[in-house]
Amino acid sequence: DLYPIRRALLSVSDKTGLVDFGKALAARGVELLSTGGTAKALRDAGLDVKDVSEITGFPEMMDGRVKTLHPVVHGGLLALRDNDAHVAAMDAHDIGAIDLVVVNLYPFEETLKRGAEYAEMIENIDIGGPAMIRSAAKNHGFVNVVVDVEDYDVVLADMAANDGQTTYALRQRLAQTAYARTAAYDTAVSTWMASQIGDTPRRRTVGGTLAQTLRYGENPHQAAAFYTDGSERPGVATAAQHQGKELSYNNINDTDAAFELVSEFDPANGPAVAIIKHANPCGVATGDTLAQAYSRAFDCDRTSAFGGIIALNQPLDGPTAEEISAIFTEVVIAPGADDAARAVFAKKKNLRLLTTDGLADAKAAGQTIRQVSGGYLVQDKDNGFITRDDLKVVTKRQPTEQELSDLMFAWTVAKHVKSNAIIYVKDGATVGVGAGQMSRVDSTRIAARKAQDMAEAMGLPAPLTQGSVVASDAFFPFADGLITAAEAGATALIQPGGSMRDDEVIAAADEAGLAMVFTGMRHFRH
Ligand code: 5GP
Repeated sequence: DLYPIRRALLSVSDKTGLVDFGKALAARGVELLSTGGTAKALRDAGLDVKDVSEITGFPEMMDGRVKTLHPVVHGGLLALRDNDAHVAAMDAHDIGAIDLVVVNLYPFEETLKRGAEYAEMIENIDIGGPAMIRSAAKNHGFVNVVVDVEDYDVVLADMAANDGQTTYALRQRLAQTAYARTAAYDTAVSTWMASQIGDTPRRRTVGGTLAQTLRYGENPHQAAAFYTDGSERPGVATAAQHQGKELSYNNINDTDAAFELVSEFDPANGPAVAIIKHANPCGVATGDTLAQAYSRAFDCDRTSAFGGIIALNQPLDGPTAEEISAIFTEVVIAPGADDAARAVFAKKKNLRLLTTDGLADAKAAGQTIRQVSGGYLVQDKDNGFITRDDLKVVTKRQPTEQELSDLMFAWTVAKHVKSNAIIYVKDGATVGVGAGQMSRVDSTRIAARKAQDMAEAMGLPAPLTQGSVVASDAFFPFADGLITAAEAGATALIQPGGSMRDDEVIAAADEAGLAMVFTGMRHFRH
């Protein structure tokens, strides 16, 4: 299964590491073929290179659209070396075997990030590159294909270990990587085109790059990995980790939930903190200082906060780090951390500290993908949001200014809580979160019950739900949930409305003297 590399074709847009690789190949006696810019770079470094146009007998033409698309190239890649008819065809048509293809493609993804116009995007769709990659990968029985700069050294190491030959295992692995690359490339092109057409694509693929093999998945008997999609947005995928063990599958999932939630709170309006457990918040709060916001979030549910994931909307400071250090926390993510905070956390070896370059854009468009047996569900990300102007007061009583402010806060949090979601809020802090129940009234009860427990644990005369407001991620189908909230001390509610029994629910609110607003928008999250 060993096969020698005698002739290589290099054609790369990203010329990182090219010269060193070319030199190492030349030193092993490999003949180098190349296209315009790549040939120039190699030649400038003093290497002996043959132009592909010399072997095809055609110049590179049509602005580079046609460079390597020729039987003398593809025959040299695809011919089976141990097949007499293939070998005879090579002889008859003067086709030389090509044993190594080194290609990285026109930078379509990078050009997209720059926000280029349509025509420029089209010119950045590489045709000859993917064709060569696919030919070489198909013939991996004999041919090596390299699409990642990181694999230059891998190929050289294999050649060094095998006297200038490579193993079948390596060629097979390179081929698999190559097809993943062309698939991801075409996915990027197709996704971009879908965005231009503004329609749901009739076909789509899910791409990504392996970022990390995880120790295990949600449970220890599940293998897992983390794939990134190349986005540079602030978030768990792009954050820098400063200390602590590697993130686990659950850490990544929960850190994402925490960071997306806290990013809803514009730092210009003051500090905000979210504490997450199992992808649901167990406390979210604003405050005059970051440390105060943290301690108010913590007070919502001190029991659940243990071993939680904390996200901040401002850079972590020393006093907040001190407060956080008082109990066991898995991960802290923030748009920065000052020296004092770093010094405090340095004593907590297991605490993972992640910093990002700013916050996520909660209003940005995007897509979410979920797997079901036999397929994927794809939808637009829930970036829906409302302003106070969208609220419709449906009760006799108007909400007060303070209630309105808390209602908006509660609604924002509700979007990030698993349905059925019920959030009690007081003075810009959650005081009860009911999540993931199969009935809305149960979520309402559980949140109130937990607030009661907290009040007892903290020695408060009454639970913090007294004088709170409540958000419900979807309409109350019956009045019972609303009545439960009122019994827990809620004075105002926010919910989408739209139930068959809205009238009943509104009447119950009026009877209890509550103020209630409808949003007309639902935030299911399952
Ligand atoms: P160079 O810098 O060597 O002039 O061009 C390298 C780029 O050309 C690589 O990204 C490679 O994938 C691409 N390429 C090679 N052959 C062809 C071809 O026939 N058509 C097109 N459109 N691109 C090609």
